[in-house]
Amino acid sequence: QDTTGLLPNQDSQLSAVSDDARHVLHPWADLSSLGTHESLIISEAKGVHVVDGNGKTYIDSIGGMWCVTLGFGREELVEAIADQARRMAYYTPFGDVSSEPAAKLAAMLSERSPGDLNRVQFATGGSTAAESAVRIAHYYQKSQGRPDKIHILSRRNAYHGGTYLAASLSGKLADRTLFHYETDIVHHMKSPGFDPDISDVSAEAFLADLIDDMERTIAEVGADRIACFIAEPIMASGGVLVPPPGYQKATLDLCRKHDILYISDEVVTGFGRLGHFFASETRFDIVPDMIVTAKGLTSGYQPLGAVLISDRIAAAMSEAAPKDKPVFSNGFTYSGHPVACAAAIANIEIMEREDICGHVRKVGPYFIDKLKALRSSPIVYAVRGDHLMACVECTVGMETGPTARNMALAQRVDRYCEEAGLLVRPYENLCILSPPLIVTERHIDSIVAILGASIERAGKDLRAGEI
Ligand code: PMP
Repeated sequence: QDTTGLLPNQDSQLSAVSDDARHVLHPWADLSSLGTHESLIISEAKGVHVVDGNGKTYIDSIGGMWCVTLGFGREELVEAIADQARRMAYYTPFGDVSSEPAAKLAAMLSERSPGDLNRVQFATGGSTAAESAVRIAHYYQKSQGRPDKIHILSRRNAYHGGTYLAASLSGKLADRTLFHYETDIVHHMKSPGFDPDISDVSAEAFLADLIDDMERTIAEVGADRIACFIAEPIMASGGVLVPPPGYQKATLDLCRKHDILYISDEVVTGFGRLGHFFASETRFDIVPDMIVTAKGLTSGYQPLGAVLISDRIAAAMSEAAPKDKPVFSNGFTYSGHPVACAAAIANIEIMEREDICGHVRKVGPYFIDKLKALRSSPIVYAVRGDHLMACVECTVGMETGPTARNMALAQRVDRYCEEAGLLVRPYENLCILSPPLIVTERHIDSIVAILGASIERAGKDLRAGEI
């Protein structure tokens, strides 16, 4: 097995664990163990491997968090970041001030995006990019003399981020706890996840029902009140939910019919995870009005997000901007941060030189095929995914979904994976996998072998009444 050959410092590991427990509130933390939970501290990383503070090496099949696409420790990315930080670390992107990396990256993204999506507004990550896209939709609709078009269509199980509006767009309603959400203008339609391995209806019938639901929602809310529809081409964090064939195209057609802008959230599906720079056009035959991107945009080496906007919308907004107040008041201090843009430029150059998308088109089907063999286990309810995004859904046998026992079972699988040197992402009763795009068939064999053995161990625990 590959190892990084890196050994972390034990003292700094110990203080990291206690400082973390005492002072950090993690995203999506278990609040009941605040202050007592000992986090896994990842200290070093190389290629597809990460090393914890005790020097234990794991294969990272989470890709950081869907984002470390080129793998860890890429000198060329590190150099690009350092060079730009030395030359000019930061200057304001507001108004009419720009930087070379931001301008160059915007041109590179436009060249690689579908249709006339040639205008880029940078953000700081996926949530701020998704929110920006909605704000652009609002501005556009109002600028066209349609002030009531402010409602937003989303889907149950969607994930669009953690800021206030992005969290409200997200459709995992079971996750909603004591926060407050925007409910007046956000409408969640049916979740589009279709699994041909377990569904008892045909893909065509399932699709017809989804489109019916969307038509009904549009009629209920009123097309003249809906600004936009936001959708991941394949849902990621909601549990790797793959829509039936034709869904993306059919939903775009409905949006066109009703003058609803289509926002494709490619934060996960973009930058190679499905074997293309952007999946919208090449995989799903749609040219949306906006694409939201982040994560793999920099291979996770720097935080950055972007909204790609069609020329049509940008020109319409520009023409209609109030003459006495033409300011477009959206954006952030770190929109298009020069160091992050330098990382993204180097990332795109490496992706193309190494034909990372071609590599994913080759190893992606191998990954899914290998994983599907795990369905023979009685504790595996479903294995689904596409190229390098996948998940395994666990079941104790007689119940499906995130019940307490199913979740306990999946957590046991996760724990056994971790013990055996594989990190998978635990979520409800799912083990989610999104490895760096540079994984080889050999790495995939190791991932599936460890996951399979962990499933077997957890299955034995279940039969022994220990779960
Ligand atoms: N959209 C999608 C599809 C995502 O998966 C995520 C993050 N998992 C986001 C938006 C939010 O991105 P960020 O966490 O960078 O704000």
